[in-house]
Amino acid sequence: MKKYFVAANWKMNLSQVQTINLAQQLVAQVNNDQVEVILCPTFTALAAVSEILSQSSLSLGSQDVFWEQRGAFTGEISAEQLKELGVTYTIVGHSERRQHLTETDLMVHQKVKASLAQNLKPIICVGETFEQRQDSQQDYVIIKQVTAALAGLEIKPEDQIIVAYEPVWVIGTGQAVLPEQANHIAKVIRQTLVDLFPLVQVKNNFRIIYGGSVDQNNAVGFLAEEVITGFLVGGASLSAEKFLPLINQLV
Ligand code: PEP
Repeated sequence: MKKYFVAANWKMNLSQVQTINLAQQLVAQVNNDQVEVILCPTFTALAAVSEILSQSSLSLGSQDVFWEQRGAFTGEISAEQLKELGVTYTIVGHSERRQHLTETDLMVHQKVKASLAQNLKPIICVGETFEQRQDSQQDYVIIKQVTAALAGLEIKPEDQIIVAYEPVWVIGTGQAVLPEQANHIAKVIRQTLVDLFPLVQVKNNFRIIYGGSVDQNNAVGFLAEEVITGFLVGGASLSAEKFLPLINQLV
């Protein structure tokens, strides 16, 4: 496992041409062997980006995955199909899917399970809404989401699972939470993992990252306590000018 992890979630923002250009720029200019860099383009660009990344140290991620292996599930894409395209990471349970597509904790669990069954590495997004934070429910929400996503899963020695703390109320706002707020929740996540799995698995098979308006100016501040070891980045990953300085400064 590399020291740091930075995943770009390009959501539904870029055209095919823009996606290809950005992936090519990043392959040419990412210059930091301490950081594992993952690009998560829209589904329709996975094949093209896979080709671009094939001779590079960057990895390919999908923005979602379906839980069934195959069959009559119009519009869905399985872990096996993603793997065929060279995908190694799957974003699961992003708040935009929980919100707009009413994705439930059970669906998230099934998607994590389906990913691991194909040796894909899930990036599980958890986070509280503004109302939940107003009600001081954030710790409870996080424990519930992490537990629902992972309880009962058999972790294989080679599995890698990333838990991304993404407070819903700061995503896409340009205003991240304070490092101490993110680190508090990261410790809640770590304790929840310790309650679910042997300590050795928590150390070897899991990583905790932060997402929510991360950029080149605020990223380093989140890493000081060494609980958070990476980022899921939306807006600041949409151009090489913003994304490269974020990656290349992490040492
Ligand atoms: C995200 O949606 O996963 C995200 C982190 O977005 P942003 O960086 O734009 O807040």
